[in-house]
Amino acid sequence: MRTTSILTVLATVASLSVATLIVAADHPTASVSADTALAKLKEGNLRFSTSEVSQSKPTAARRAETAQAQHPFAVIVGCADSRTSPELVFDQNLGDLFVIRTAGNLVDDHALGSIEYAVAHLGARLIVVLGHARCGAVKAALESDRAPGHIQSLVHDIQPAVKATKGKPGDALAAAITENARQVAAQIKAKAALGDLAKEVRIVFAIYDLDTGKVDWTKD
Ligand SMILES: [Zn+2]
Repeated sequence: MRTTSILTVLATVASLSVATLIVAADHPTASVSADTALAKLKEGNLRFSTSEVSQSKPTAARRAETAQAQHPFAVIVGCADSRTSPELVFDQNLGDLFVIRTAGNLVDDHALGSIEYAVAHLGARLIVVLGHARCGAVKAALESDRAPGHIQSLVHDIQPAVKATKGKPGDALAAAITENARQVAAQIKAKAALGDLAKEVRIVFAIYDLDTGKVDWTKD
């Protein structure tokens, strides 16, 4: 009886290991290539910034279409700022974008895990770090290296960008915002465990202009 129990346990453990391996290798083919994804985002932002009519309102039909499975074509690491919603800024719909947002568009282990998941299991091949003009989190980090509560964690992680741009000519906040987005993109490149898929993945950063609605890709 005891032997049977042990065998059952061993068999269960073995089957779990096989299941884990199958899941680990279960990456669908790319939703679209990184370059195609970038072109789609640029087209969507052009619609958003130049047209008054969105082509991508979430409809019941689109909800039904995406209810059982998702194949987002890009990962956006954006700021939690209420004026920078990636689905709106890029004029995309339900199921199009895999979005991770924190104040200051930072990445921690949870964010890196989310990125790895989107690439390995959902087929996303483009990762965009989206900073934005007048970012309050970067402004706070520029003004002080101390902040109350957990805001300190944000300020702490933005400090390297503040230090890297200190004393440089031009607008200090704009420079720190761009540098922060650049550094976060570099962190993702260095830390995200993408395995063989890394060669298919593009990681870029861009800055969103609150006034014009345009995303500036030229600083990358
Ligand atoms: Zn912000």
